[in-house]
Amino acid sequence: MKELRRIPLSGPDITDLEIALVNRVLRTPYLSMGPMIEEFERAAASFIGKKYAAAVSNGTSGLHLCVEAAGVGPGDEVITTPFSFVASANCILYEGGTPVFVDIDPETLNIDVDRIEEKVTSRTKAILPVHIFGQPCQMDRLMAIAQRRRLRVIEDACEAMGAEFEGRRVGSFGDGAVFAFYPNKQMTTAEGGIIVTDDVEWFKLFRSLRNQGRDENGTWLHHTRLGYNYRLDEISSALGVAQLQRIDELLNKREAVAGWYTDRLEQIEGVETLRIDSKVSRMSWFVYVVMLSPELDRNRVMGELEECGVPSRPYFTPIHLQPFYIDRFGFKPGDFPITEAVARRTLALPFYGGLKEEEVEFVCRSLRAVIGRQCG
Ligand SMILES: *Cc1c(COP(=O)(O)O)cnc(C)c1O
Repeated sequence: MKELRRIPLSGPDITDLEIALVNRVLRTPYLSMGPMIEEFERAAASFIGKKYAAAVSNGTSGLHLCVEAAGVGPGDEVITTPFSFVASANCILYEGGTPVFVDIDPETLNIDVDRIEEKVTSRTKAILPVHIFGQPCQMDRLMAIAQRRRLRVIEDACEAMGAEFEGRRVGSFGDGAVFAFYPNKQMTTAEGGIIVTDDVEWFKLFRSLRNQGRDENGTWLHHTRLGYNYRLDEISSALGVAQLQRIDELLNKREAVAGWYTDRLEQIEGVETLRIDSKVSRMSWFVYVVMLSPELDRNRVMGELEECGVPSRPYFTPIHLQPFYIDRFGFKPGDFPITEAVARRTLALPFYGGLKEEEVEFVCRSLRAVIGRQCG
């Protein structure tokens, strides 16, 4: 009988430590706004190297609060990349701002820093770089532009927990930075995110905005500003505390899996692996993405991989070609040709820290067979 196996696309890494801390929370009366969120915030701020951290309900809400803190309003522009998860541009729309896309570097798939400055106008308020797939953007040059043009920088580090550029952790460069902890990220709180900043005013604003616009010293039913419920609960925070204690282990496991993939895939014709910028001192592997040769039919590759029990995903569809961006802004194919060419060829393979070497071997063998069939 044919071997039936299915490799998961991703999976969380949960141990007795996470279970014990979550259990501990469940034995207290504090399921929200208790001591766990504060412990999580202290640990995260110290890990990233920022003064303050504000935990929030997810990465998207964190990005929204940063865009609001940066003072973005109707008519204001924020420069960002079209090659990302849709939330990294949606957060600008929430405040009525306009995302101004800059095409990407075809090697690192990050925003092309050389092309940022030509997009700066009198309405530009901020740059919102995304460290895509866990690879840091060129933050030295990007921060220099921001300083010269007096722009705020909001790092979307939702895919890059623990990544380092020239020995410095991502999230420590911008005015604010956001990490996300959905179950497929490097560490998880189930749903959750965190904002880090050195600016005490931003920090106070985040704490108020996430908590219905309440003031630090106000009463429960006193609302100073239009706020939201973007709080992170104590159970999620407990997961975060435990995962952050294990962060080196989590990142190392993922790095090992990525290494197994790279070793094998570099020998397969028709498959290109990701280039890592020489100034990246630590890649934090979020997903393992390959680029297929342009002549290969990606949908067929995906379909046939699926039949082998190997799921894969076309990460990402360019944001400017999402239906409501086309409707609202009139974007069309060809507007960001590098992003579009890359997005047609990328394929995310099963990837998480718990993947075994023989499973990686199986995925690579399947990919080689599927591609061989198409080429032949
Ligand atoms: C995951 C992710 C987010 C949003 O995180 P959520 O927690 O799912 O809201 C934002 N930007 C990027 C690039 C992401 O990958």
